[in-house]
Amino acid sequence: MAPSHAFRCCKRALNWTPVLFINLVIGWSYYAYVVELCVYTIPNDAERISYLVVFHLFFAMFIWSYWKTILSKPANPSVAFALPSADKELYEREQRAEVQQEILKRVARSLPVYTRTAGGAIRYCDFCQVIKPDRCHHCSTCEMCVLKMDHHCPWVNNCVGFSNYKFFVLFLTYAALYCVVICATVMQYFIKFWTKELHDTHAKFHILFLFFVAALFFISVMSLLGYHLWLVGKNRTTIEAFRAPVFPNGPDKNGFSLGFRRNVAEVFGDRAKDWIFPVFSSQGDGHSFVTRLVHIDPEQANSVLQQNGKIPSDGENSLGVEGDTEDSRKEKTDGDQTVVVMMDGKP
Ligand SMILES: [Zn+2]
Ligand SMILES: [Zn+2]
Repeated sequence: MAPSHAFRCCKRALNWTPVLFINLVIGWSYYAYVVELCVYTIPNDAERISYLVVFHLFFAMFIWSYWKTILSKPANPSVAFALPSADKELYEREQRAEVQQEILKRVARSLPVYTRTAGGAIRYCDFCQVIKPDRCHHCSTCEMCVLKMDHHCPWVNNCVGFSNYKFFVLFLTYAALYCVVICATVMQYFIKFWTKELHDTHAKFHILFLFFVAALFFISVMSLLGYHLWLVGKNRTTIEAFRAPVFPNGPDKNGFSLGFRRNVAEVFGDRAKDWIFPVFSSQGDGHSFVTRLVHIDPEQANSVLQQNGKIPSDGENSLGVEGDTEDSRKEKTDGDQTVVVMMDGKP
């Protein structure tokens, strides 16, 4: 086995350490609650059964959304965003950055691509060899371009993006609720053990720790959940919160915001019954997004309507990828003629 291959295998295995840690904590919390609290400590059958029913309800939703976040494959740009072979050859042979940029601009004209690099150039990934769709970024850990990339999360060992952002927000929500259920029901027994009203048993250690750990996790999860709920309301990804997307008319941190209700619907879907379950209900195909204020080349506007019908939504025709990069930053201003489309919502 080549050393570089062995190193990559070790790195991949190590990346699962945080997931293993979280699962061990969850496994122990399940044992401490069900066996040590409900079986050995609670004396009353009615109380025991009602606690077990509520606990298992939240436990199931928490685990379901957690594993959906972990197992959802990041969505990649469709083949429509790759350069046609003739243009690709030209692009690779060309040494001058401004001529390469002209090739990209010509190809991008038929794609629903409105965001640019900070220097005004078409965003191109040299590793995946694709024109990056709006809100798409290259993840150096996953070694691929990820649609509507939010961030790479070590706790789920996966990229959080278009394919699983809803699951990620639900995972944080159910993690917080799971901790609330534990704290609320364990508290009276915590106090009884603490004040020595209950005799010391082997359950004491588990119940005292269970309360502390649940309270600690609740505080850390709530700060992250609060931040992501705010991002959903503003229709921003974590990356966009740190660096505003650049449109042909300049950076605009609210460029994708369509008003609170529509922003929430973009992630969670239109139907309220889909919101609480970790099943995919986000709107769109991840390749193009409605913008609040778009400066569109009229020629490109027509192609958007065509492309929206063509691009596969499940990322099946995604490209093979490799490498590690940030957004390309070639300097070239965009001289396209522009029209303005105002949406009705406020950011
Ligand atoms: Zn890439
Ligand atoms: Zn990633």
